[in-house]
Amino acid sequence: MGKVGKAIRATIAAAFILHGLAGPAGTQEHGHDDAVTQPATPSVHVEKMKAGNENFVRLHGREYRLVHSKGQQPSLIVMQCADSRDDLVTQAQLPPGYAFEMGVNAGNIINTEEASLVANIIYHLKHLKGQNRAYVVMGHYGCGGIKGLDEWEHLEPEIAKHLRLALPAKEFVEKQLRNRRLNVSEETRHRMIVEANVLAQIRNLMSIQQVRSAVEQRHLAVMPVISDINTGELHFGLPTLQQHGLLEHAKAEFGIQKWLQGQHRLQDQQLARLGPFRPQDRRMPAESRNFPKTRVRPTAFRRK
Ligand SMILES: [Zn+2]
Repeated sequence: MGKVGKAIRATIAAAFILHGLAGPAGTQEHGHDDAVTQPATPSVHVEKMKAGNENFVRLHGREYRLVHSKGQQPSLIVMQCADSRDDLVTQAQLPPGYAFEMGVNAGNIINTEEASLVANIIYHLKHLKGQNRAYVVMGHYGCGGIKGLDEWEHLEPEIAKHLRLALPAKEFVEKQLRNRRLNVSEETRHRMIVEANVLAQIRNLMSIQQVRSAVEQRHLAVMPVISDINTGELHFGLPTLQQHGLLEHAKAEFGIQKWLQGQHRLQDQQLARLGPFRPQDRRMPAESRNFPKTRVRPTAFRRK
C-alpha cells in the first residue's frame, strides 16, 4: 500500500520541484542547471540509506520483529502532504504498525476519484483491526501546494487538476477576509488556507459512504492536524481559524461540524498553551532551512 502513496509522492514532488513550489516559503529552487549537466549518482543515496538503515535496525529491529509477529493493527490512517519536511509518524514519534498511509500528495488532497486512495481507506476500514481508530488529515504551514493556489492559472495542467480540490479553502478564506474586513499578514492568510484546506479534505473524506457511516456509528473519529515545519510542532486543531473566529464558519462551510465532535477539548488544550491571541506574535519567522530533510523515524519506538 505504501508504494502507491510513495509513487504519487515522487511524481508530484518532482513536478513541484520543477515548478519551484517546493522551496522554502515558495521561493524558486536553485541549482537546476547543475542537476541537468551532472549525471545523477544514486550510489551516494544508497550509501546514505545503507548507513542510516544499519543504525535504525540496530536501534529498532526488536520493535519491528515484535510488530511483525503480531501483524499490523494500525489505529490511525493518515493523509499528509508530500513535503519532505513533514511526516506525522516522525513528528509524533509513532511506533511501527500504528499509522497506516491513506495517501501522500501535494496539499494533502483527498480525491475520491483516485482508486488507489479510496482502496487504501476501504482496506484499512474493512481489513485492519486497530483499536480506537481515527483518520488524520494533516496539513502544514509553508505548504507549496497551497501557495500554488495563488498562481493557479500558471500551473501545469496536471498540477492544476490535482490542486483544484483545494481551491474551496482559498475561496472560503478570501470571502471571510473580505466580508469581515480582516486585515491579516500574508503568512496568517496562508495559515488560514492551510487549515481550511484540511476541513475541505475532511469533507471529501466524509463523502465516502463507508467512512461516513463508521464515523456516525462512532467506530471511527476524524481529526484535523497541522504541522509547523519551522518547529516540527503539531497542532491538534486549527489555531489560526480559531483565533480569528472563523473555525465554526469553516466547519459549516464544508458541512462537517457534526463529524468533528470531541475535537474541541484537544484544541482548547493546545490554544490554552498558546495564550491569548496577539496578532503580532503569530507572524511566522522565515522558514528554517535547517530542518532535517530525512524521514528517519526517531527513537520513540521503545515501549514504555
Ligand atoms: Zn505541502
